Amino acid sequence: VTAETSKQELPPVTEELLTALEFRYAVPRCCRVCGAPLSVADSRGMKMTCDSDAASPYTAVHEAAGATWKEALDHWAESTLYNPPDGDLHVLALVAEVRRLRELGSESIAEWRE
Ligand SMILES: [Zn+2]
Repeated sequence: VTAETSKQELPPVTEELLTALEFRYAVPRCCRVCGAPLSVADSRGMKMTCDSDAASPYTAVHEAAGATWKEALDHWAESTLYNPPDGDLHVLALVAEVRRLRELGSESIAEWRE
């Protein structure tokens, strides 16, 4: 096996990849449904859930927030993180820098075309 063939192929840096990295390394971890910060739901920190009333399993609470039982269940299921990975501001800074450079790049291309 040569160095060339053993090298892992790097994925293209798409907007989807940047968004996925932002979610993966977010500080604080936020709910994917409503954006509220997640809180640790068990003593070992293995699970994080959304505190929003709309994600509450209690009928009185989610109905008061305008959600049906099914909506509350879906909200809870989609937002709960098991074994949540640590966030990392270094990765977020890198993603922001890539976005900034891309924006600068597309602006200068637009100027050059005018
Ligand atoms: Zn939520």
